[in-house]
Amino acid sequence: MSRAEIVSMTEDCPDLQAIHKAGSILQSGGLVAFPTETVYGLGGNALDPEAAKKIYLAKGRPSDNPLIVHIADREDLDLLVSGIPEEAERLISRCWPGPLTIILQKSGIVPKETTGGLETVAVRFPDNRIAQAFIRASGGYVAAPSANLSGRPSPTSAEHVAEDLGDRIDMILDGGPAKIGLESTIVDFTEDIPVILRPGYLGPEKLREILGEVKMDPGLLSEADANTPPKAPGMRYRHYAPAGDLKIIEGEPAAVYAEIRNRIHAHLQAGETAGVICTEESRGEYPEGNVQCIGSRAEEETIAKHLYEILRGFDEAGTAYIYSESFYTPLMGQAIMNRLIKAAGHQVITAEQKGDSNG
Ligand code: AMP
Ligand code: MG
Repeated sequence: MSRAEIVSMTEDCPDLQAIHKAGSILQSGGLVAFPTETVYGLGGNALDPEAAKKIYLAKGRPSDNPLIVHIADREDLDLLVSGIPEEAERLISRCWPGPLTIILQKSGIVPKETTGGLETVAVRFPDNRIAQAFIRASGGYVAAPSANLSGRPSPTSAEHVAEDLGDRIDMILDGGPAKIGLESTIVDFTEDIPVILRPGYLGPEKLREILGEVKMDPGLLSEADANTPPKAPGMRYRHYAPAGDLKIIEGEPAAVYAEIRNRIHAHLQAGETAGVICTEESRGEYPEGNVQCIGSRAEEETIAKHLYEILRGFDEAGTAYIYSESFYTPLMGQAIMNRLIKAAGHQVITAEQKGDSNG
């Protein structure tokens, strides 16, 4: 079913011939998916308006949702932007290559198709040697959103990409599972004070340590408030979502376990399919249903890394009702819960302390 050629390699042993071919595909206007440390990207030539249009078409993405331009040398940033504030310079000198995207005023060379019509451009220098070699082979400027169909969970493996886009793109560079598994932190430097437009692996504490004052986009905090839409256009759309109905159950652990147990039991009794996203610490609490363990609360990086794979797994299993515990872990909790809450379409329920009919 897949028309895309899939070539497997590792960062330690990149297939230079395949990467060279991928670069040629981009230079002649085609699309190639590639691994990064965050999630897989769907790359096209960032300076070619036609390539940007192809990306939107392949993903089924609204064309007002801008793409991130990926570079593989710090100096290549200069050509893309009209200026670099000192703070942005300081942050990228500490965090690039890495899971950080910055927003600056764009230069004339960046087509409006790439930036979704905006005068600003998002730029990232990924920390993955396959990605870097591919970007250089492509001419240095690769526009890439996550390599999933619009609305689906971001891909953290080449298999996820093939599932969504295998018959719509030319090639997939398979570099194994993504190390981080959540999209980059986006920081906007076009206002007086830097603003986090999307939380990610690089958390607010680290950003404040480097930058001093940093604001959080008000649209991220008041998610139910339609008057303050998030500034990153992509954050306005329903996103990361599994096909089944996902709800987050919060509260005291014992109440959460009981609530989820009871709900799963009721679905199964009614002849419906149901499951739960739990942790190693709580998996013993769920005797029935499709029980998926996301990792240990003590290792929050594992939780981040497995989130999208688990959401896709429920689609594969055809699970109709999915319940998740919440994961407000110390460092990445905000980034993880931002994705999970969007995946759940903001359905967050607080478990009542009292009722455990099983116990
Ligand atoms: P994705 O590539 O799927 O991770 O999506 C890229 C994200 O970056 C989306 O949420 C975009 O809306 C956001 N983005 C890209 N360019 C800009 C920009 N110039 N201003 C604000 N947000 C941006
Ligand atoms: Mg995306």
